[in-house]
Amino acid sequence: MERCSICKGKMELKKVDVIKKIKNKIVVIDEVPAYVCYQCGEKYYSIDVVESIEKLLEKVEKEEIKINTIQGAELKFEALSV
Ligand SMILES: [Zn+2]
Repeated sequence: MERCSICKGKMELKKVDVIKKIKNKIVVIDEVPAYVCYQCGEKYYSIDVVESIEKLLEKVEKEEIKINTIQGAELKFEALSV
């Protein structure tokens, strides 16, 4: 991975939480691998990761994955690739 495109800072591979809003519900995806800039904290995701997140959100939208109506859901990223 190259350097941050915003500040040219060094990138570090980390596990982060991704928070998305679907139909007024909050979906938190845990432990998503991302490159995080040391300097400005900007996050970058690989294409595979972005695709996995999109697939998951699609499932939530189609209600293939049930989520709590009030608080939303916390989902483990690793479970998505199955
Ligand atoms: Zn940066």
